[in-house]
Amino acid sequence: MTRHVTRQVNIKGVTVGGNSPVRIQSMNNTKTGDVKATLDQIFKLRDCGCEITRVAIPDMEAAQALKEITADSPIPVVADIHFDYRLAVESARNGAAKIRINPGNIGGPDRVAEVVRVCKERGIPIRVGVNSGSCERELVDKYGGVCAQALCESARRAVKLLEDQDFEDIVISIKSSSPVLTIDTYRTLASECDYPLHVGVTEAGTMKEGIVKSAVGIGTLLAEGIGDTIRVSLTDDPTEEVYAAISILKALNLKTGGIDFVSCPTCGRTKVPLIELAGKVEEKISRLPYDLKVAVMGCAVNGPGEAREADIGLAGGVDEFLLFRKGETCGKIRTANIDEAVDEFVREVIRVGEEKSKAY
Ligand code: SF4
Repeated sequence: MTRHVTRQVNIKGVTVGGNSPVRIQSMNNTKTGDVKATLDQIFKLRDCGCEITRVAIPDMEAAQALKEITADSPIPVVADIHFDYRLAVESARNGAAKIRINPGNIGGPDRVAEVVRVCKERGIPIRVGVNSGSCERELVDKYGGVCAQALCESARRAVKLLEDQDFEDIVISIKSSSPVLTIDTYRTLASECDYPLHVGVTEAGTMKEGIVKSAVGIGTLLAEGIGDTIRVSLTDDPTEEVYAAISILKALNLKTGGIDFVSCPTCGRTKVPLIELAGKVEEKISRLPYDLKVAVMGCAVNGPGEAREADIGLAGGVDEFLLFRKGETCGKIRTANIDEAVDEFVREVIRVGEEKSKAY
């Protein structure tokens, strides 16, 4: 795939755009004023692969708490501001790595100029965040509804307010809860500018719906080379957003490494309670630090062949499980007990993972 060429911005040492990898972002759901809880969550997010996080700045208390948070955070912290330019200025002074704001709704050019001045002084990029829910009435009327053209024009106006202040350290996002509108909008945006794009489907829902909508919206764009940083929005723990983002990137070969888990869909030949077995195995291995393809298959007759790419696999039989590597049988686990089989298989996965790590 050919990446859409964008300029690069530097978010406190993490580059976005240009030839940087697609960066994974999430957003804290702690009260930003609670410094300890916010930092604890940031460390958890970092541990599971988050590269940039964002915190809500609804008031001065939150903007001031940023000072301690940014001093100790292991990853860049973006300040999310709505409407009040003073919160943006205070956040920038307190170490925010980037300011997310819509310059179109903070009260005029003087206020935009003040935010830009403080960000320029400190080398802080601004993400212009446009949301389909807050698209200007006039644009909605002009285009006959909230559509890609209306949203892109809204973003262009907001970006121009910054450019008028001679500021181009910009990332753009245009969020919608519709994957189709998201795809349409970012395609249009990418054809019009070379600013890095922050891609996501907003208010995507809970895990089940949200991951599907995000995979379709974000995944389609990434497959076309559009998108420099992504956030999966889920009504769930933010670490789940990070795991989902990693899965989307891995599915497109935009991220390598880690466990690639496959399991068969089950059929009339299935010899074991595969749904339970696969779920238990996945839970125990998915975050192991090995670069391995692991398969869990429902029968010993077809399983090893169907998953012949796997570095290590388990196939269900009668009162026993077959172990296989690259399609070839390499052992058996003699038990009918699922939990025993899972534990033994996980040990085998770790052994193969260690072996492969040493070989490199
Ligand atoms: S591996 Fe066996 S059980 Fe699973 S889908 Fe294929 S034939 Fe069916």
